[in-house]
Amino acid sequence: MKRRDFLATGATLAAYAPLTGWTAVLKDVGDVAARSLDGGDLALRGATVEDFAAGLRGDLLLPGHVGYDARRRVWNGMFDRKPALIACCTGPADVRRAVEFARDNRLLTAVRAGGHSVSGKSTCDGGLVIDLQQMQGVRVDPGARRAHVEAGSLLGLLDRESTAHGLATTAGTYSDTGAAGLTLSGGFGRLGRRFGLACDNVASFDVVTADGRFARASDDENPDLYWGLRGGGGNFGVVTSIEYRLHPMNPVVLGGFVAWPWEQARDAARFYRDIAGDAPETVNLIPAWYWNAGKPEFGVGVCWSGDHAEGEEWLRPLRTFGKPSFNEVQPTPYVAIQSKDDASAPHGIRSYAKNGFLGSLTDDGIDLIMDVLARTPSLYDIFCDHCGGAYSRMSADATAFPRRDMQFVLAIWSGWPTADGIEEKVAMMRAAWRELEPLTQGFYSNYTGSDIVTTGQRENFGPNFERLVALKAKYDPMNLFRLNANVPPKA
Ligand code: FAD
Repeated sequence: MKRRDFLATGATLAAYAPLTGWTAVLKDVGDVAARSLDGGDLALRGATVEDFAAGLRGDLLLPGHVGYDARRRVWNGMFDRKPALIACCTGPADVRRAVEFARDNRLLTAVRAGGHSVSGKSTCDGGLVIDLQQMQGVRVDPGARRAHVEAGSLLGLLDRESTAHGLATTAGTYSDTGAAGLTLSGGFGRLGRRFGLACDNVASFDVVTADGRFARASDDENPDLYWGLRGGGGNFGVVTSIEYRLHPMNPVVLGGFVAWPWEQARDAARFYRDIAGDAPETVNLIPAWYWNAGKPEFGVGVCWSGDHAEGEEWLRPLRTFGKPSFNEVQPTPYVAIQSKDDASAPHGIRSYAKNGFLGSLTDDGIDLIMDVLARTPSLYDIFCDHCGGAYSRMSADATAFPRRDMQFVLAIWSGWPTADGIEEKVAMMRAAWRELEPLTQGFYSNYTGSDIVTTGQRENFGPNFERLVALKAKYDPMNLFRLNANVPPKA
């Protein structure tokens, strides 16, 4: 029997195998209860949904369909949401069709690439998920030093294909994070002090805007959109492909971790702070205060991407400071460093995180961080992204990304395997952050929990906010793309 003849038999039971790029014909779909953009109830006519499915190359999944449950899940297990429809897009044409359907029906819409949203914004209850998971692929042009990355691709693929040519760009610190979500809101990573944010390395985006238009955004084409997509998140459309600039780099770095017992943590953290500020741009040092087998500990994650002999020399004072309890820094393939922590944050973990930009790490700040960690056993980790260097070389208005003057991003995060006592644990995290937040100014929207509001965005984007509002009014006046660090179309 041909797949296309294999008909669904009811509104909630279409027995076809998903994820193949074949669209089974949906038939006899009754009205579908859904949620509108402003959160109200909506009944989508069955025939309208059938037409939508017929116009897609990928599958349209409804509750009850084979594959729906697997597809609706996102990395953060806190968000067990049930969309009315999941459009499994196989390319830009499907994305365009999905955007038009969402717009015409004023349907609540989420966009999902890697699914790593900490705040659960890439899924929704009762709306449409524009799912890009099938759109994965990276093509490297070594001569031009460019990587063309389909929007559903994960960072591990970008790193792997680039380093195979002795090239690389900034791409997070976990290999299974999505390139698109990370890049659109900035993108910190182990190479960022050398090459800048992931978004600083984008040469062009392909995007489907809210009116269903294909657009290219680069220096030459739609430069206003190009500006907004570099730091303004998913506000302006669905990005279908990203072209990154790549840089020559030895694919083997000096990488690893150095840790100290709690009795030495204060001195080690101060020593870290003293060397981090003026560190060469080829080194990234991520400090972390965390619990290990019931005991608090301090450690520094190391990635040196320059000359190895120089790196050994520069890192020696850190590695010989005090008496480290763990001290392993060695030549390691960059792709191995990038995936070494993946298992610590598996899909489905229930996670909560908060963060803020830090101008400096003072002695008092270090004391407070240590004090908060020691009093909060439900908190897994307080860490900093190491900034400065190339992150700060761009002017504040060169892209939409809000802050360039920060030295660190201070973040707290936890991930719990079960829901046991979760409300109490989250309350403890919030309390911990209330104590730490005064150290910070503004926040990185990609690391934050679900509790950001628009007024927070205004302060966070600072002088870039009004320009973002004008862009939003131009490219998405109905605020179709609102499940993100949302900028309203009117100030
Ligand atoms: P998704 O959940 O798929 O998308 C998140 C949001 O991005 C969506 O809600 C949507 O608004 C937008 N979006 C995604 N794709 C598109 C698209 N194609 N078009 C338009 N909008 C889109 N961040 C860093 O900077 N550096 C790190 O090292 C880092 N490490 C992380 C490690 C873990 C374990 C996790 C969970 C997160 C980490 N992050 C890091 C944060 C990460 O950048 C964000 O969670 C980011 O949103 C993930 O992108 P995604 O495509 O996987 O997410």
